Amino acid sequence: MGEKIIGIDLGTTNSVVSVVVGGEPIVIQNQEGNRITPSVVSWTKEKEILVGEPAKRRAILDPLNTVYESKRFIGRKFSEVRDIIGRVSYKVVEDDKGDAVFDIPNAGKLVRPEEVGAHILRKLKEAAESYLGEKIQKAVITVPAYFNERQRQATKMAGKLAGLEVVRVLNEPTAAALAYGLDKKENAKILVYDFGGGTFDVSILEGGDGVIEVKATAGDSFLGGANIDERIMEWLIEEFKKETGIDLRNDKTALQRLKDAAEQAKKELSFKMETEISLPFITIDPATKQPLHLQKKLTRARLEQMIEDIIDRTLEIVKKALADANLKPEEIDDVVLVGGSTRIPLVQQKIKEFFGKEPHKGVNPDEVVAIGAAIQGSILSGEKKDILLIDVTPLSLGIETYGGAMTVLIPRNTPIPVRKCETFTTVSDFQTEVEIKVYQGESPIAKENKLLGTFRLTGIPPAPRGVPQIEVCFDIDADGILHVTAKDKATGKEQSITVQPSSGLTEEEVKKMLEEYEKHKDEYERKKKLIELKNQLDQIIYPIEKLLKESPDKFTEEERKELEKLVVESRKVIETSTDLNEVEKKLEEARQLATKYAEKLYRATQGGKDNNNNKGSEGGEGPIDAKPVD
Ligand code: AMP
Repeated sequence: MGEKIIGIDLGTTNSVVSVVVGGEPIVIQNQEGNRITPSVVSWTKEKEILVGEPAKRRAILDPLNTVYESKRFIGRKFSEVRDIIGRVSYKVVEDDKGDAVFDIPNAGKLVRPEEVGAHILRKLKEAAESYLGEKIQKAVITVPAYFNERQRQATKMAGKLAGLEVVRVLNEPTAAALAYGLDKKENAKILVYDFGGGTFDVSILEGGDGVIEVKATAGDSFLGGANIDERIMEWLIEEFKKETGIDLRNDKTALQRLKDAAEQAKKELSFKMETEISLPFITIDPATKQPLHLQKKLTRARLEQMIEDIIDRTLEIVKKALADANLKPEEIDDVVLVGGSTRIPLVQQKIKEFFGKEPHKGVNPDEVVAIGAAIQGSILSGEKKDILLIDVTPLSLGIETYGGAMTVLIPRNTPIPVRKCETFTTVSDFQTEVEIKVYQGESPIAKENKLLGTFRLTGIPPAPRGVPQIEVCFDIDADGILHVTAKDKATGKEQSITVQPSSGLTEEEVKKMLEEYEKHKDEYERKKKLIELKNQLDQIIYPIEKLLKESPDKFTEEERKELEKLVVESRKVIETSTDLNEVEKKLEEARQLATKYAEKLYRATQGGKDNNNNKGSEGGEGPIDAKPVD
């Protein structure tokens, strides 16, 4: 058995560390004796760095030097988070690389989100070391299913900074399924409903015979308990304004206290029908210079009114995941609840109504993800070796091919790790280079998707178009990182890229692209058809064009005129037309002429071996023209 690997749920709001001892996962208490550690770091004037509970306590006193919810910023560009920097009380700025970093006065420098993560991880690592009485060097860390490559890499970096080798970046819902014991069931399908402090994730997983497979994932990384706290805060602020005319929004210290009180009230209302919110000395009346107090009663019914739409939004995302997995609610065997916000009675009630059964409550929703990470750690350390884990790609991955088409190599929701190869060819005679442009998204037009990276394969031996065979392989590793290689089969020459951490998609982009796709599905289909027809037209025109150029004497004057007209008009249609009918008409005309001159064309192409119709070359795969390099 290898060395111990701990499992860490590095959460937006709270973090948890767990380890498998003697075959059983154990949640480790932190230095303050708590099983959950707030994901908060605070810098004091004396440059002391506080982490967890002591940091959270300082948040009220020192909002500028206390960082919470730093997970929202990890691995993200400043431009991606501009909208949310106003929601935190510390200062988020742009560094010279365009990344979102924290300007913490007491730190005396800009602090990266990875560093904040590292402080939290180090605390948990030390707690585990003192519990186990041995040094810990390896960890499995969980991330939301929608984290992109950049966010995953940054999470790994946080581990490294804390002195931990992150042996696996595991999706949170997958971890939950492991803790639930899905691998031990017989062909069960579960839905993991993860409603935490800052993110909402839903995953559908299927398990049995020691295997867990993720069928679909969907989510919103800006939907969580904090949104509920904000609703309560807003209500308190408005009520206070009505009574006193004072807007507490301008008072950072008051806001921090309101936030804590709002969260506290929310939690209490999960168990009680009403609660009293009391914030003495919340501010000073500017007119009388007297201290003012905030005192409000909140009932569960009132809270439910305030937040019903938030919970309905989670169910919309659930519907999307079900549609992706092609399942009806009644086909789900169990709904596993993850995240503190699933303790809200209205959440449980709505889930019950939707699925027609009670959600599963066997595992503590705060700890289930860390426990799953610990189980994964024990699998990797060799302690447990009977499970295989499969995650899925959230969006399709492919390359740009002739005519600007997106040719998908890995469709969305494909289980990873995965390797897929396809053979492509050139579109021009004696083309010695191809450019491989890697895209992610659902549009059949490559350009409408997100460009992940570009590289060139050069040194292809000159040959007529359609002859070279270029094998393009997509490899997604277990951490969700994509490697693309292109190889010229004749020479064995190879080029590759790993999609750089700075080029992934943010969760909102993924969401937006999927929404776009749904909205424009018909338009996409039309464009796809257009590209297909244009490609067919090109296939017919090309040999004619070539023959006219190389051996014009094969035709009579009249024949030549007819064919030249066809070529010119077809080229124009290929270049400019957006009208399906027009392309179809031209294609029909080209087909007729090609048939008319079939014999001459055939004889001519025999000599030059123009291979542009060699469907089913290797492995039955039709070669798809790679985009030519100008
Ligand atoms: P997590 O990200 O899983 O740690 O979840 C933390 C979120 O759960 C925070 O927004 C908490 O306020 C919320 N939470 C914790 N306990 C409760 C509770 N009893 N009722 C409602 N929300 C809760």
